[in-house]
Amino acid sequence: MIVVMAAGSSDSELAAVRERIESKGLKAQINLGVERTVVGVVGSIPPDFKDEVELLEGVSDVVMISKPYKLASREFHPDDTIIKVGSAVIGGPSPVIMAGPCSVEDEEQMVSTAKAVKKAGATVLRGGAFKPRTSPYSFRGMGEDGLKLLNLAKQETGLPIITEVMATEDVDTVAKYADILQIGARNMQNYNLLDAVGELGKPVMVKRGLAASYEEWLLAAEYVMASGNEEVILCERGIRGFESFTRFTLDVAAVPVVQRLSHLPIVADPSHSTGKWYLVTPVALASVAAGAHGLLIEVHPNPDIAKCDGPQSLTFENFDMLMQQVDAIASVRKQPVAAN
Ligand code: PEP
Ligand code: MN
Repeated sequence: MIVVMAAGSSDSELAAVRERIESKGLKAQINLGVERTVVGVVGSIPPDFKDEVELLEGVSDVVMISKPYKLASREFHPDDTIIKVGSAVIGGPSPVIMAGPCSVEDEEQMVSTAKAVKKAGATVLRGGAFKPRTSPYSFRGMGEDGLKLLNLAKQETGLPIITEVMATEDVDTVAKYADILQIGARNMQNYNLLDAVGELGKPVMVKRGLAASYEEWLLAAEYVMASGNEEVILCERGIRGFESFTRFTLDVAAVPVVQRLSHLPIVADPSHSTGKWYLVTPVALASVAAGAHGLLIEVHPNPDIAKCDGPQSLTFENFDMLMQQVDAIASVRKQPVAAN
């Protein structure tokens, strides 16, 4: 349920609405919008409560939200959510490019990649230290040592870090180093983990599950938001189809669909969806043309010897070419890539 306050309603009227909501054991999430103040009511709404709130002073309208996700819905929050991390403005008119290796391997690999992607125009550095791998025999990441190398690359370049957290018990450790915490596709429905990152004061990027519907994905974002964290970014990283030539199928329509259903920024990942380096640029361009707020791109100094996801990783040179083309498409949309 959403309570829309009347234009010119007072602070004390808003406080009375909040008190009434909390007196029923419900949570009130206040959104002071540009044009109007809206209060989201979270919890199980008792019968007749809508009629009761409608009569309170300063209330203009009470609307039952039709979607199962509330805080993530466009109905609750008509303006786009904008998340600022370092010099990156995620959710604004310019696509933000997050780039770096699949996994952190060593200092030289991490620092050289950070410098190269920054030079080409990326404003967020990626790198996995805790890696979800299909096979238990694959390289599973350097853990906290990897986070320290990410931090070193951050010191060298000033780029903020996005990195994955896989387990609830690692949230505090990862949050010590990360500027954005990534929830991987395989953990999109790990509800305890979503709760845990919801309690942090740091942005969280929720990747779409391998077979998740839009509703399930937005409900995963809702978990993070319901725990108090409103800084959520969504990432379309491809879903499972019948085609095995590509690793997954990037659902480009997810970009405008999510923008219609939600106010949260939506980023696309052409690396994990295609699995092939030569498909990354075309799919990145399609995503930006469709309006993506950003891209997550895997880049490695020498993809042939990468410990993880080499076949889909771009060389520095290819990343530079991708950036120039992305900039051209973004300019057509009158949304050039954010300057760093
Ligand atoms: C990643 O971005 O490092 C990753 C493992 O992606 P996904 O969770 O989408 O497979
Ligand atoms: Mn990867």
